Amino acid sequence: MVTDFDNLPADSAAKDPSATTPPTALAAMIDLHHPIKASVVDWAHRELAPTDLDGRDERCEFWHDGWQAAVDKGVLGLMVDPAYGGLGADVVTGLLWYEGIGYACPDAGLVFALACQGWTMQPIVERFGTDEQKATYLPALVDGRLQGAFTITEPDSGSDSFTMGTTYTANDDSYTINGTKAYVTMAPEADVFIVFATKDPALGSWGVTAFLVDADTPGLTVSENRPKMGLRTTPFADLMFDNCTVAASQRIGPEGSGASIFSSAMEAERAFVLAGQIGAMERQLDTAVAYARERQQFGKPIGDFQAVSHRLADMKLRHESSRMLLYKAAALAESGRPSMEAAALAKIQASEASIASSVDAILTHGARGYVTEFGVERNLRDVAGGVIYGGTSDIQRNIVARMLGLL
Ligand SMILES: Cc1cc2nc3c(=O)[nH]c(=O)nc-3n(C[C@H](O)[C@H](O)[C@H](O)COP(=O)(O)OP(=O)(O)OC[C@H]3O[C@@H](n4cnc5c(N)ncnc54)[C@H](O)[C@@H]3O)c2cc1C
Repeated sequence: MVTDFDNLPADSAAKDPSATTPPTALAAMIDLHHPIKASVVDWAHRELAPTDLDGRDERCEFWHDGWQAAVDKGVLGLMVDPAYGGLGADVVTGLLWYEGIGYACPDAGLVFALACQGWTMQPIVERFGTDEQKATYLPALVDGRLQGAFTITEPDSGSDSFTMGTTYTANDDSYTINGTKAYVTMAPEADVFIVFATKDPALGSWGVTAFLVDADTPGLTVSENRPKMGLRTTPFADLMFDNCTVAASQRIGPEGSGASIFSSAMEAERAFVLAGQIGAMERQLDTAVAYARERQQFGKPIGDFQAVSHRLADMKLRHESSRMLLYKAAALAESGRPSMEAAALAKIQASEASIASSVDAILTHGARGYVTEFGVERNLRDVAGGVIYGGTSDIQRNIVARMLGLL
C-alpha cells in the first residue's frame, strides 16, 4: 500500500529531538505528515514490523524483540532528561513519535506497553522521585534494564480509585503493604511497580501514598497473565501484597501526597497515552481508502458508492478531530496551563472515535474485515479498552460536566 508517508523524505529530526527546536502543537496539529512523525514512521516500518502478530495475539504473547528495538531507538527515554540517559524531548515531539509508531506498528499491544511506561512510569519518577530514586531507576528504565508498571486499580476500587483497600503501615525505617491490585499493564514483565496504598481507607484521598516496589520484594506475588479481548500482546496481571515491606527510601513524595501525584501525573497523560491509537486510526483509514479504491462490485470500485465514501469521510473526520483535541491538550500542558478538561475531551474523542472507525473499517472490508487473517477486526478489539483504561468515558464526561459547573 502506498501512503502519503512513502513520498516524504525521512528527516533526521526524530534522531535527536534535544538537538532541534521543538515543534509547536499548532505545527503538529496542522501537518499530518510532520517531518518528525514521518521520520518515526520510516524507522518503525523497518524496525517494528511485527513477526507472527496473529499467533502472538492468539497466545497473548509480548513482542520482546519489538520492545528492544524501541529501547534501542530511545523511545523509553524520549521525554526523560538527558542527565538520566533520555532524549529530553518536549510533549509535542513525544506525541508525534507515538503517532508515528502507532501508524507504522500494527502490534497495538506493544505500542500500548511503550506508552504506558513512557507516559506514566518515567514522568512520575522524574517529577516526584528523590535524587536517589531517579538515579537508581530512570537510567535503567530508559535503557531497558528495567521495565516498570503503574498500579492503582483494585478489584473493588476502579473509578473510585482513592477508596482503596491496599493499606500500608509505617515501621521505623520501612513500610509494610497489604492488599491486591488488579489489571496492571505489563505486570508479568515488570521489574518495578509504582504502587498506591492508603494509610487508612477512612482518610479517603488524604491517606494515599505512592511507593516504588521492586518485583522481587518478598511478600509481592504477580498473577499469571490475564487474557483479555484486545491488546492481547500486552501482558496484564494482578498483584498480591502480603506483608510486603519496602524501605522508607522507596516512598515517592511525602506521606499523603499519593492522590495529588496521581492526579497531576495523569492530568493530560491519560489522553497522551492514546497518541499511538490515533496513529493507528490513520493507518486504518489509509488501508480502508486503498481497499475502497481497489475492491470492485457492480462493475466499479466500492469507493464510488456514496454510502462507502461517506463512511470513509466520517473516519477522516474522527481522526482529524481526535488529533486536534490531543494537540490542544498538549499545548495547554506544555505551557503549564490547566489541561484536565482538554485532556478529558481528547480522551473521550480518541477512544470512542477509534471504536466507531474500527466498526466502519470492518463494514468497508466486508467479510475480509471480519476474518482474523486480514488484521482488520483486531483493531476493534485493541481499541475497545481505550474507553476504560486511564479513567472510563463516563468519568471523563464527569470531569467535563464539572468544568461546565454541573455535578
Ligand atoms: C486495557 C486496560 C489496561 C489497564 N491498565 C491498568 C494499569 O496499568 N494500572 C492500573 O492501575 N489500572 C489499569 N487498568 C484498570 C482501569 O484503570 C480501570 O478498569 C478503570 O479505571 C475502571 O475501573 P473498573 O474497571 O473497576 O470499573 P468501575 O469503576 O467499576 O466502572 C464500571 C462502570 O461504572 C461506571 N461508573 C463508575 N463510577 C461512575 C461515576 N461516578 N459516574 C459515572 N459512571 C461511573 C464506569 O464508567 C463503568 O461504565 C486497565 C484497564 C484496561 C481495560
